[in-house]
Amino acid sequence: MRMVKRRYVLKFPPKSGDKPLSYILVKDYDIRINILKAEVVPGRRGNLLLELQGRQSNITKGIEYLKEHQVECSPLDKTITLEQDKCINCGNCSAVCFAGALTMHPETWELQFDKSKCIVCELCLKACPLNLFEIDFHDDAE
Ligand code: SF4
Ligand code: SF4
Repeated sequence: MRMVKRRYVLKFPPKSGDKPLSYILVKDYDIRINILKAEVVPGRRGNLLLELQGRQSNITKGIEYLKEHQVECSPLDKTITLEQDKCINCGNCSAVCFAGALTMHPETWELQFDKSKCIVCELCLKACPLNLFEIDFHDDAE
């Protein structure tokens, strides 16, 4: 059967660090895991951007398994768009973007948006006083 790659943003609840969730994904569901981005603070919520490779049916089951263990799983089937020409470079969005997709240029203090780093956490949507961010939904099926 055909192998597929899927990207997911996982949000782990506090105290989930002791559970071997990723080990079970590999062992029980035959899923290969590539961690693209991680922010895990002990005792607090952890965020991971993962690329999962395996059979679609196994990935679906593996994601269900994670959800049963209170892990929020969001497929990366949407992107964030920005009306940058209306931006006033206030920096609010860069302050909440832990993925590092939104940064202020160190000399010009103009906003820079690196879409490749965006994990679609949507925090910038609420942070922008001018509502310049939007979610663009698209079909990620291969
Ligand atoms: S959704 Fe916004 S805040 Fe979240 S990673 Fe993407 S650009 Fe950064
Ligand atoms: S919060 Fe909005 S106005 Fe401020 S820097 Fe970000 S995109 Fe620009």
